[in-house]
Amino acid sequence: MASTLSNQLELQPHFVLVPLMAQGHMIPMIDIATLLARRGVFVTFVTTPYNATRLESFFTRVKQSSLLISLLEIPFPCLQVGLPPGCENLDTLPSRSLLRNFYKALSLLQRPLEQFLNHHLLPPSCIISDKYLYWTAQTAHKFKCPRVVFHGTGCFSLLSLYNLQLNSPHTSIDSNFEPFLVPGLPHRIEITKAQLPGSLIKSPDFDDFRDKITKAEQEAYGVVVNSFTELENGYYQNYERAISKKLWCIGPVSLCNENSIEKYNRGDRASKSNCLNWLDSMIPKSVVYICHGSLCRMIPSQLIQIGQCLESSTRPFIWVIKNRGENCSELEKWLSEEEFERKIEGRGLIIRGWAPQLLILSHWSIGGFLTHCGWNSMIEGIGSGVPMITWPQFAEQFLNEKLVVEVLKIGVRIGVEGAVRWGEEERVGVMVKKEEIEKAIEMVMNGGEEGEERRRRVEDLSKMAPKAMENGGSSYVNLSLFIEDVMAQSAHLKA
Ligand code: UDP
Repeated sequence: MASTLSNQLELQPHFVLVPLMAQGHMIPMIDIATLLARRGVFVTFVTTPYNATRLESFFTRVKQSSLLISLLEIPFPCLQVGLPPGCENLDTLPSRSLLRNFYKALSLLQRPLEQFLNHHLLPPSCIISDKYLYWTAQTAHKFKCPRVVFHGTGCFSLLSLYNLQLNSPHTSIDSNFEPFLVPGLPHRIEITKAQLPGSLIKSPDFDDFRDKITKAEQEAYGVVVNSFTELENGYYQNYERAISKKLWCIGPVSLCNENSIEKYNRGDRASKSNCLNWLDSMIPKSVVYICHGSLCRMIPSQLIQIGQCLESSTRPFIWVIKNRGENCSELEKWLSEEEFERKIEGRGLIIRGWAPQLLILSHWSIGGFLTHCGWNSMIEGIGSGVPMITWPQFAEQFLNEKLVVEVLKIGVRIGVEGAVRWGEEERVGVMVKKEEIEKAIEMVMNGGEEGEERRRRVEDLSKMAPKAMENGGSSYVNLSLFIEDVMAQSAHLKA
């Protein structure tokens, strides 16, 4: 009798999702949780108390639904590792010098997670974990289930990074600004050293940590990607071949948010603003939406250039400003001295704090998206059929820019030449002038025949995206195959 019950419990899929505590990683994981639960999977979503408060509205909706998603809150050991209290998400980290402490705190989540799983009625069938939580490889091994990695980025950048790491073409180039070929891609793509992700640059502080990530990645069973095969044709197959692992493109996962309420509080409590009424009052495709994601910290003089550009332009806009620290007070001083908000009244809207990005992007009045090229923003822009003005900052964002501008041809570069390394924003001479911002916005909003073509291409892609997600579409089928495959692997490991 007891063994029949345990056999039955093993048949119930139980997926444990362990995201990196950063908005660009947690948000798509929440969407993945929803997609899995809609297929009858029991999901345990692991996070910490502060992050849980940001996801409150999501979990309130879950409680009112029949979805089996359970929240596991593990206290984040800030004090133990020398982090300020409440510093539980990368966007609350005061400085890069505390990054190692943050990763250390993440690794201390291993024991409480394993204690929880030891006492859980349902054995885990799969752990989907962000690559940064490398120690989940040990947890998966202990609980005899496959570990699947979620990077949070697309196949184009994953393949590019893989090939750059393997062949190291940058190590034989002296100049920071001399273009060289990214090896092994279906298209001819060039990059410079100045644009490379920080992970390719040797760093004594992080090399041991990166080695652990790489080792765990090599041992992983497969990779899930928030993308769809039609978008990254050539790239997903080559990446799958390169890593010799299973890969499932199951996105755009943001499309699981169907109604306005789901879109409104996605990822955090949206700042109070009447943006929906305001957007309703605009002309179709007339508004420029400007948002630089959750982590980017632009210096005040750069933010002021954006402000000046928006002030002198005649275009309607929504500008998202993250109210964080000194950068913000200097900008606020400028805004108030300039009487910026009085001057742009009726034509522009500032959102301070968290913007309901998905809701905004999917509104018919949005005509262009000035973005920092985080992968979620890219794929949300594509899903909404909005052409982009690309302003990459760091990480793999320059690669995302290449996909959007050179391969898909749905964006215009603002023209920034080098990455801004976190904590070095003041030092890097990559200031973009008001005129350059204006020029790129005009190209996207009013780019003549070329602009129309660009818009048509992204609108075509936006029609493919929901098709991929609906019953029978590529991402829908991939999600089914993914669940079946890891369940079979889990049974095999437990046998
Ligand atoms: N986002 C949002 N409101 C904001 C800022 C960001 O909803 O004010 C969401 C955005 O829709 C995306 C995620 O946060 O899903 C940011 O991820 P992305 O990969 O674009 O950039 P990151 O913040 O990781 O640099």
